[in-house]
Amino acid sequence: MTGTRVLVLNSGSSSLKYQLLDMRDSSRLAAGLVERIGEQTSRLKHTPMAAGGDAREADGPIADHDAALKAVAQELARDGLGLDSPDLAAIGHRVVHGGMFFTEPTVIDDAVIAEIERLIPVAPLHNPANLTGIRTARALRPDLPQVAVFDTAFHTTMPESAARYAIDPRIADRHRIRRYGFHGTSHAYVSRATAELLGKAPEDVNVIVLHLGNGASASAVRGGRCVDTSMGLTPLEGLVMGTRSGDLDPAVIFHLARVGGMSMDEIDTLLNKRSGLFGLCGDNDMREIRRRIDEGDEAAALAFDIYVHRLKKYIGAYYAVLGTVDAVAFTAGVGENAAPVREAAVAGLESLGLAVDPGRNAVRGDRPRIVSPDSARVAVAVVPTDEELEIATQTYALVGKNT
Ligand code: ADP
Repeated sequence: MTGTRVLVLNSGSSSLKYQLLDMRDSSRLAAGLVERIGEQTSRLKHTPMAAGGDAREADGPIADHDAALKAVAQELARDGLGLDSPDLAAIGHRVVHGGMFFTEPTVIDDAVIAEIERLIPVAPLHNPANLTGIRTARALRPDLPQVAVFDTAFHTTMPESAARYAIDPRIADRHRIRRYGFHGTSHAYVSRATAELLGKAPEDVNVIVLHLGNGASASAVRGGRCVDTSMGLTPLEGLVMGTRSGDLDPAVIFHLARVGGMSMDEIDTLLNKRSGLFGLCGDNDMREIRRRIDEGDEAAALAFDIYVHRLKKYIGAYYAVLGTVDAVAFTAGVGENAAPVREAAVAGLESLGLAVDPGRNAVRGDRPRIVSPDSARVAVAVVPTDEELEIATQTYALVGKNT
Protein backbone atom coordinates (compact mmCIF):
# COMPACT_ATOMS: atom_id res chain seq x y z
CA MET A 1 0.00 0.00 0.00
CA THR A 2 1.49 3.32 -1.02
CA GLY A 3 -1.27 5.85 -0.42
CA THR A 4 -2.15 7.34 2.93
CA ARG A 5 -5.55 8.81 2.12
CA VAL A 6 -8.91 7.21 2.80
CA LEU A 7 -12.21 8.38 1.35
CA VAL A 8 -15.15 7.68 3.65
CA LEU A 9 -18.56 7.42 1.99
CA ASN A 10 -21.91 7.39 3.76
CA SER A 11 -24.51 6.82 1.10
CA GLY A 12 -28.16 7.46 1.99
CA SER A 13 -31.23 7.01 -0.17
CA SER A 14 -31.03 10.55 -1.55
CA SER A 15 -27.74 11.79 -0.12
CA LEU A 16 -24.02 11.13 -0.23
CA LYS A 17 -21.80 12.30 2.63
CA TYR A 18 -18.05 12.08 2.28
CA GLN A 19 -14.79 12.87 3.98
CA LEU A 20 -11.25 12.51 2.72
CA LEU A 21 -8.72 11.86 5.49
CA ASP A 22 -4.95 11.62 5.60
CA MET A 23 -4.17 8.71 7.88
CA ARG A 24 -0.62 9.87 8.65
CA ASP A 25 -2.11 12.32 11.13
CA SER A 26 -5.85 11.57 10.88
CA SER A 27 -6.36 15.04 9.43
CA ARG A 28 -9.38 15.93 7.32
CA LEU A 29 -8.45 17.05 3.80
CA ALA A 30 -11.98 17.66 2.55
CA ALA A 31 -15.56 16.90 3.47
CA GLY A 32 -18.98 17.44 2.01
CA LEU A 33 -22.47 16.37 1.23
CA VAL A 34 -24.65 15.90 -1.82
CA GLU A 35 -28.32 16.28 -0.92
CA ARG A 36 -31.60 15.61 -2.72
CA ILE A 37 -30.03 13.30 -5.31
CA GLY A 38 -32.55 12.53 -8.07
CA GLU A 39 -34.42 15.80 -7.63
CA GLN A 40 -34.24 19.07 -9.55
CA THR A 41 -32.96 20.86 -6.46
CA SER A 42 -29.86 18.77 -5.67
CA ARG A 43 -27.08 20.54 -3.84
CA LEU A 44 -23.40 19.76 -3.37
CA LYS A 45 -21.62 21.39 -0.46
CA HIS A 46 -17.87 20.87 -0.40
CA THR A 47 -15.41 22.07 2.24
CA PRO A 48 -11.79 22.00 1.18
CA MET A 49 -9.99 21.86 4.55
CA ALA A 50 -6.52 21.10 3.16
CA ALA A 51 -6.77 23.60 0.32
CA GLY A 52 -8.14 26.26 2.67
CA GLY A 53 -10.85 28.62 1.55
CA ASP A 54 -14.55 28.67 2.07
CA ALA A 55 -17.05 25.92 1.48
CA ARG A 56 -18.31 25.75 -2.11
CA GLU A 57 -21.95 25.10 -2.93
CA ALA A 58 -23.37 24.05 -6.26
CA ASP A 59 -27.11 23.76 -6.94
CA GLY A 60 -28.71 21.95 -9.85
CA PRO A 61 -30.08 18.53 -10.69
CA ILE A 62 -27.87 15.52 -9.89
CA ALA A 63 -29.64 12.49 -11.36
CA ASP A 64 -28.22 9.62 -9.33
CA HIS A 65 -25.44 8.47 -6.99
CA ASP A 66 -23.12 7.87 -9.91
CA ALA A 67 -23.45 11.51 -10.99
CA ALA A 68 -23.11 12.58 -7.35
CA LEU A 69 -19.84 10.75 -6.83
CA LYS A 70 -18.49 12.10 -10.13
CA ALA A 71 -19.38 15.63 -9.00
CA VAL A 72 -17.59 14.99 -5.69
CA ALA A 73 -14.56 13.65 -7.57
CA GLN A 74 -14.48 16.84 -9.65
CA GLU A 75 -14.57 19.03 -6.55
CA LEU A 76 -11.75 17.02 -4.97
CA ALA A 77 -9.73 17.27 -8.19
CA ARG A 78 -10.05 21.07 -8.06
CA ASP A 79 -8.26 20.91 -4.70
CA GLY A 80 -5.55 18.62 -6.08
CA LEU A 81 -7.09 15.65 -4.24
CA GLY A 82 -8.49 13.72 -7.23
CA LEU A 83 -9.77 10.21 -6.66
CA ASP A 84 -7.40 8.94 -9.39
CA SER A 85 -4.43 9.90 -7.21
CA PRO A 86 -2.04 7.14 -6.09
CA ASP A 87 -2.24 8.73 -2.64
CA LEU A 88 -5.73 7.30 -2.22
CA ALA A 89 -5.28 3.99 -0.38
CA ALA A 90 -8.87 2.87 0.00
CA ILE A 91 -12.52 3.79 0.21
CA GLY A 92 -14.40 3.02 3.43
CA HIS A 93 -18.17 2.64 3.27
CA ARG A 94 -20.60 2.96 6.14
CA VAL A 95 -23.00 0.04 5.92
CA VAL A 96 -25.89 0.09 8.35
CA HIS A 97 -26.79 -3.60 8.64
CA GLY A 98 -24.26 -6.40 8.72
CA GLY A 99 -26.54 -8.89 10.46
CA MET A 100 -24.78 -11.61 12.44
CA PHE A 101 -22.51 -12.37 9.54
CA PHE A 102 -20.26 -9.31 9.56
CA THR A 103 -18.54 -8.95 12.91
CA GLU A 104 -15.66 -6.86 11.57
CA PRO A 105 -14.83 -4.41 8.80
CA THR A 106 -14.64 -6.39 5.58
CA VAL A 107 -12.93 -5.88 2.21
CA ILE A 108 -15.70 -5.70 -0.36
CA ASP A 109 -15.96 -8.28 -3.13
CA ASP A 110 -18.92 -9.73 -5.03
CA ALA A 111 -19.70 -12.21 -2.23
CA VAL A 112 -19.76 -9.41 0.36
CA ILE A 113 -22.12 -7.39 -1.82
CA ALA A 114 -24.40 -10.43 -2.16
CA GLU A 115 -24.46 -10.85 1.63
CA ILE A 116 -25.28 -7.16 2.21
CA GLU A 117 -28.07 -7.61 -0.34
CA ARG A 118 -29.39 -10.65 1.54
CA LEU A 119 -29.79 -8.41 4.59
CA ILE A 120 -32.10 -5.94 2.80
CA PRO A 121 -35.26 -7.44 4.37
CA VAL A 122 -34.00 -6.40 7.84
CA ALA A 123 -32.70 -2.98 6.66
CA PRO A 124 -35.00 -2.03 3.77
CA LEU A 125 -34.21 1.68 3.89
CA HIS A 126 -30.50 1.66 4.58
CA ASN A 127 -28.75 -1.28 2.95
CA PRO A 128 -29.96 -0.58 -0.62
CA ALA A 129 -28.71 3.00 -0.31
CA ASN A 130 -25.36 1.84 1.10
CA LEU A 131 -25.05 -0.68 -1.74
CA THR A 132 -25.65 2.05 -4.32
CA GLY A 133 -22.69 3.93 -2.88
CA ILE A 134 -20.53 0.81 -2.96
CA ARG A 135 -21.41 -0.03 -6.56
CA THR A 136 -20.84 3.53 -7.70
CA ALA A 137 -17.44 3.76 -6.02
CA ARG A 138 -16.37 0.38 -7.35
CA ALA A 139 -17.30 1.44 -10.88
CA LEU A 140 -15.23 4.60 -10.49
CA ARG A 141 -12.14 2.92 -9.01
CA PRO A 142 -12.40 -0.85 -9.59
CA ASP A 143 -8.71 -1.29 -8.76
CA LEU A 144 -8.95 0.24 -5.29
CA PRO A 145 -9.62 -1.71 -2.08
CA GLN A 146 -13.03 -0.85 -0.68
CA VAL A 147 -14.04 -1.72 2.84
CA ALA A 148 -17.49 -2.04 4.44
CA VAL A 149 -17.69 -0.86 8.05
CA PHE A 150 -20.93 -2.03 9.68
CA ASP A 151 -23.04 -0.13 12.22
CA THR A 152 -24.01 -3.46 13.76
CA ALA A 153 -20.53 -5.03 14.04
CA PHE A 154 -19.60 -3.68 17.48
CA HIS A 155 -22.76 -5.19 18.93
CA THR A 156 -22.18 -8.73 17.68
CA THR A 157 -20.41 -9.48 20.98
CA MET A 158 -23.72 -9.19 22.87
CA PRO A 159 -24.60 -12.39 24.73
CA GLU A 160 -27.68 -14.28 23.56
CA SER A 161 -29.48 -13.21 26.73
CA ALA A 162 -29.30 -9.59 25.53
CA ALA A 163 -29.58 -10.21 21.79
CA ARG A 164 -32.67 -12.46 21.79
CA TYR A 165 -36.26 -11.37 22.10
CA ALA A 166 -38.46 -13.62 24.23
CA ILE A 167 -40.30 -15.14 21.28
CA ASP A 168 -40.29 -18.62 19.73
CA PRO A 169 -36.69 -19.04 18.51
CA ARG A 170 -37.80 -20.98 15.44
CA ILE A 171 -39.87 -18.01 14.28
CA ALA A 172 -37.10 -15.60 15.27
CA ASP A 173 -34.45 -17.56 13.37
CA ARG A 174 -36.60 -18.04 10.30
CA HIS A 175 -37.06 -14.29 9.99
CA ARG A 176 -33.66 -13.33 11.44
CA ILE A 177 -35.36 -11.45 14.26
CA ARG A 178 -32.95 -10.51 17.04
CA ARG A 179 -31.47 -7.40 18.60
CA TYR A 180 -28.68 -6.21 16.30
CA GLY A 181 -28.10 -2.68 17.58
CA PHE A 182 -26.86 0.29 15.53
CA HIS A 183 -24.50 3.30 15.86
CA GLY A 184 -21.85 0.66 16.60
CA THR A 185 -19.03 2.64 14.99
CA SER A 186 -19.78 5.51 17.34
CA HIS A 187 -20.16 3.30 20.43
CA ALA A 188 -16.82 1.64 19.62
CA TYR A 189 -15.02 4.94 19.09
CA VAL A 190 -16.52 6.67 22.12
CA SER A 191 -15.99 3.77 24.53
CA ARG A 192 -12.32 3.60 23.52
CA ALA A 193 -11.89 7.38 23.71
CA THR A 194 -13.51 7.35 27.17
CA ALA A 195 -11.00 4.76 28.40
CA GLU A 196 -8.23 6.97 27.02
CA LEU A 197 -9.70 9.99 28.81
CA LEU A 198 -9.58 8.00 32.06
CA GLY A 199 -5.95 7.05 31.33
CA LYS A 200 -6.84 3.35 31.14
CA ALA A 201 -6.86 0.55 28.57
CA PRO A 202 -10.30 -0.23 27.06
CA GLU A 203 -10.04 -3.76 28.52
CA ASP A 204 -9.93 -2.28 32.01
CA VAL A 205 -13.05 -0.12 32.00
CA ASN A 206 -16.83 -0.49 31.93
CA VAL A 207 -18.59 2.33 30.13
CA ILE A 208 -22.21 3.28 29.46
CA VAL A 209 -22.23 5.17 26.15
CA LEU A 210 -25.18 7.45 25.40
CA HIS A 211 -25.21 8.39 21.70
CA LEU A 212 -27.84 11.13 21.56
CA GLY A 213 -28.21 12.56 18.06
CA ASN A 214 -31.35 12.65 15.99
CA GLY A 215 -31.27 8.90 16.34
CA ALA A 216 -30.28 7.88 19.86
CA SER A 217 -28.96 4.73 21.46
CA ALA A 218 -27.30 3.55 24.66
CA SER A 219 -24.79 0.76 25.06
CA ALA A 220 -23.20 -1.12 27.92
CA VAL A 221 -19.54 -1.80 27.17
CA ARG A 222 -17.57 -4.15 29.39
CA GLY A 223 -13.80 -4.15 28.87
CA GLY A 224 -14.12 -2.83 25.32
CA ARG A 225 -16.85 -5.29 24.28
CA CYS A 226 -20.51 -4.43 23.87
CA VAL A 227 -22.77 -6.47 26.18
CA ASP A 228 -26.06 -4.67 25.57
CA THR A 229 -27.49 -1.88 23.44
CA SER A 230 -30.84 -0.17 23.22
CA MET A 231 -31.63 -0.42 19.50
CA GLY A 232 -32.90 -3.79 18.33
CA LEU A 233 -33.97 -5.44 15.09
CA THR A 234 -34.21 -1.91 13.70
CA PRO A 235 -33.16 1.52 15.00
CA LEU A 236 -36.68 2.07 16.38
CA GLU A 237 -36.20 0.41 19.78
CA GLY A 238 -34.87 2.05 22.94
CA LEU A 239 -34.47 5.71 23.77
CA VAL A 240 -36.83 8.52 22.80
CA MET A 241 -35.33 10.05 19.63
CA GLY A 242 -35.85 13.07 17.40
CA THR A 243 -38.73 11.51 15.47
CA ARG A 244 -38.77 7.86 16.68
CA SER A 245 -40.78 6.61 19.63
CA GLY A 246 -38.22 4.16 21.00
CA ASP A 247 -39.61 1.53 23.41
CA LEU A 248 -43.33 0.91 23.19
CA ASP A 249 -45.71 -1.86 24.19
CA PRO A 250 -45.97 -3.87 20.93
CA ALA A 251 -49.71 -4.04 21.55
CA VAL A 252 -49.90 -0.33 20.69
CA ILE A 253 -49.37 -1.43 17.09
CA PHE A 254 -52.22 -3.98 17.19
CA HIS A 255 -54.41 -1.36 18.80
CA LEU A 256 -53.65 1.28 16.18
CA ALA A 257 -54.37 -1.25 13.44
CA ARG A 258 -57.51 -2.82 14.91
CA VAL A 259 -59.09 0.08 16.73
CA GLY A 260 -57.42 3.05 15.05
CA GLY A 261 -57.87 1.64 11.54
CA MET A 262 -54.32 2.55 10.51
CA SER A 263 -52.39 0.58 7.90
CA MET A 264 -48.99 -0.95 8.68
CA ASP A 265 -47.30 1.68 6.52
CA GLU A 266 -49.08 4.46 8.38
CA ILE A 267 -48.03 3.02 11.74
CA ASP A 268 -44.46 2.61 10.50
CA THR A 269 -44.39 6.27 9.45
CA LEU A 270 -46.00 7.37 12.72
CA LEU A 271 -43.47 5.56 14.91
CA ASN A 272 -40.36 6.28 12.84
CA LYS A 273 -41.00 9.77 11.48
CA ARG A 274 -43.71 11.44 13.55
CA SER A 275 -43.01 10.33 17.11
CA GLY A 276 -40.26 10.99 19.65
CA LEU A 277 -39.59 14.61 20.55
CA PHE A 278 -41.21 15.77 17.31
CA GLY A 279 -44.37 13.76 17.91
CA LEU A 280 -44.61 14.96 21.48
CA CYS A 281 -44.14 18.68 20.93
CA GLY A 282 -43.68 19.44 17.23
CA ASP A 283 -39.92 20.04 17.46
CA ASN A 284 -37.10 17.52 17.25
CA ASP A 285 -34.22 19.94 17.81
CA MET A 286 -33.17 20.03 21.45
CA ARG A 287 -32.07 23.68 21.11
CA GLU A 288 -35.58 24.70 20.09
CA ILE A 289 -37.12 22.57 22.85
CA ARG A 290 -34.93 24.25 25.50
CA ARG A 291 -35.83 27.67 24.13
CA ARG A 292 -39.53 26.84 24.36
CA ILE A 293 -39.13 25.50 27.90
CA ASP A 294 -37.49 28.79 28.88
CA GLU A 295 -40.61 30.53 27.57
CA GLY A 296 -42.84 28.32 29.72
CA ASP A 297 -44.06 25.96 26.99
CA GLU A 298 -45.64 22.92 28.69
CA ALA A 299 -45.61 20.54 25.73
CA ALA A 300 -41.87 21.12 25.27
CA ALA A 301 -41.27 20.61 29.01
CA LEU A 302 -43.18 17.31 28.98
CA ALA A 303 -41.30 16.11 25.87
CA PHE A 304 -38.00 16.89 27.63
CA ASP A 305 -39.12 15.04 30.77
CA ILE A 306 -40.17 11.93 28.82
CA TYR A 307 -36.86 11.99 26.92
CA VAL A 308 -34.82 12.25 30.11
CA HIS A 309 -36.92 9.70 32.03
CA ARG A 310 -36.21 7.05 29.37
CA LEU A 311 -32.53 7.96 29.35
CA LYS A 312 -32.32 7.58 33.12
CA LYS A 313 -34.02 4.17 32.94
CA TYR A 314 -31.37 2.97 30.50
CA ILE A 315 -28.54 4.31 32.65
CA GLY A 316 -29.98 2.35 35.58
CA ALA A 317 -30.52 -0.77 33.48
CA TYR A 318 -27.00 -0.76 32.06
CA TYR A 319 -25.53 -0.03 35.47
CA ALA A 320 -27.21 -3.25 36.61
CA VAL A 321 -26.04 -5.16 33.51
CA LEU A 322 -22.43 -4.07 34.06
CA GLY A 323 -22.34 -4.35 37.86
CA THR A 324 -19.59 -1.77 38.13
CA VAL A 325 -19.34 1.33 35.97
CA ASP A 326 -16.26 3.51 35.43
CA ALA A 327 -17.84 6.13 33.20
CA VAL A 328 -21.04 7.32 31.57
CA ALA A 329 -20.12 8.98 28.26
CA PHE A 330 -22.43 11.41 26.45
CA THR A 331 -21.93 11.88 22.72
CA ALA A 332 -23.48 13.12 19.42
CA GLY A 333 -25.42 16.35 18.83
CA VAL A 334 -27.53 16.34 22.00
CA GLY A 335 -25.07 14.46 24.21
CA GLU A 336 -22.17 16.76 23.34
CA ASN A 337 -24.07 20.03 23.46
CA ALA A 338 -27.09 19.86 25.73
CA ALA A 339 -25.84 20.38 29.30
CA PRO A 340 -29.42 20.30 30.72
CA VAL A 341 -29.95 16.79 29.31
CA ARG A 342 -26.75 15.52 30.97
CA GLU A 343 -27.65 17.18 34.24
CA ALA A 344 -31.21 15.85 34.29
CA ALA A 345 -30.20 12.33 33.20
CA VAL A 346 -27.98 11.76 36.26
CA ALA A 347 -29.94 13.91 38.74
CA GLY A 348 -30.74 11.94 41.88
CA LEU A 349 -28.29 9.14 41.06
CA GLU A 350 -25.68 10.18 43.65
CA SER A 351 -26.09 6.86 45.46
CA LEU A 352 -24.87 5.18 42.25
CA GLY A 353 -21.82 7.47 42.32
CA LEU A 354 -23.19 9.61 39.49
CA ALA A 355 -23.27 13.41 39.49
CA VAL A 356 -22.33 16.35 37.30
CA ASP A 357 -20.41 19.39 38.43
CA PRO A 358 -22.55 22.32 37.21
CA GLY A 359 -19.54 24.47 36.34
CA ARG A 360 -17.77 21.74 34.36
CA ASN A 361 -21.02 20.66 32.70
CA ALA A 362 -21.66 24.18 31.42
CA VAL A 363 -18.28 24.51 29.69
CA ARG A 364 -18.49 23.93 25.95
CA GLY A 365 -15.73 22.40 23.90
CA ASP A 366 -14.87 19.89 21.23
CA ARG A 367 -12.40 17.81 23.26
CA PRO A 368 -13.27 14.81 25.45
CA ARG A 369 -13.80 16.02 29.00
CA ILE A 370 -15.04 14.96 32.42
CA VAL A 371 -18.01 16.89 33.78
CA SER A 372 -18.46 15.07 37.11
CA PRO A 373 -16.87 16.33 40.33
CA ASP A 374 -13.48 14.85 41.26
CA SER A 375 -15.12 13.12 44.22
CA ALA A 376 -17.63 11.17 42.08
CA ARG A 377 -17.11 7.39 41.95
CA VAL A 378 -18.22 7.23 38.31
CA ALA A 379 -16.89 9.68 35.72
CA VAL A 380 -19.54 11.47 33.68
CA ALA A 381 -17.83 12.38 30.41
CA VAL A 382 -18.58 14.29 27.22
CA VAL A 383 -16.77 12.51 24.40
CA PRO A 384 -17.35 13.88 20.88
CA THR A 385 -17.92 11.06 18.44
CA ASP A 386 -16.15 10.80 15.10
CA GLU A 387 -17.68 8.05 13.02
CA GLU A 388 -15.84 9.06 9.84
CA LEU A 389 -12.45 8.89 11.56
CA GLU A 390 -13.36 5.50 13.01
CA ILE A 391 -14.44 4.19 9.57
CA ALA A 392 -11.23 5.57 8.02
CA THR A 393 -9.08 4.07 10.78
CA GLN A 394 -10.69 0.64 10.49
CA THR A 395 -10.49 0.78 6.68
CA TYR A 396 -6.83 1.80 6.65
CA ALA A 397 -5.85 -0.81 9.25
CA LEU A 398 -7.56 -3.59 7.29
CA VAL A 399 -6.12 -2.56 3.94
CA GLY A 400 -2.65 -2.19 5.48
CA LYS A 401 -2.91 -5.70 6.91
CA ASN A 402 -3.93 -7.16 3.56
CA THR A 403 -1.14 -5.65 1.45
P1 ADP B 1 -27.58 12.79 13.50
O1 ADP B 1 -28.24 11.67 14.24
O2 ADP B 1 -28.47 13.39 12.45
O3 ADP B 1 -26.16 12.51 13.07
P2 ADP B 1 -26.44 14.71 15.37
O4 ADP B 1 -25.57 13.83 16.19
O5 ADP B 1 -25.79 15.70 14.47
O6 ADP B 1 -27.55 13.91 14.59
O7 ADP B 1 -27.43 15.50 16.36
C1 ADP B 1 -28.38 16.38 15.87
C2 ADP B 1 -29.20 16.91 17.03
O8 ADP B 1 -28.32 17.47 18.02
C3 ADP B 1 -30.10 18.07 16.67
O9 ADP B 1 -31.35 17.61 16.22
C4 ADP B 1 -30.24 18.82 17.98
O10 ADP B 1 -31.35 18.27 18.69
C5 ADP B 1 -29.00 18.46 18.74
N1 ADP B 1 -28.10 19.62 18.94
C6 ADP B 1 -27.17 20.09 18.11
N2 ADP B 1 -26.55 21.17 18.64
C7 ADP B 1 -27.13 21.39 19.85
C8 ADP B 1 -26.96 22.36 20.89
N3 ADP B 1 -26.07 23.32 20.79
N4 ADP B 1 -27.74 22.24 21.99
C9 ADP B 1 -28.66 21.26 22.08
N5 ADP B 1 -28.86 20.33 21.15
C10 ADP B 1 -28.12 20.39 20.05
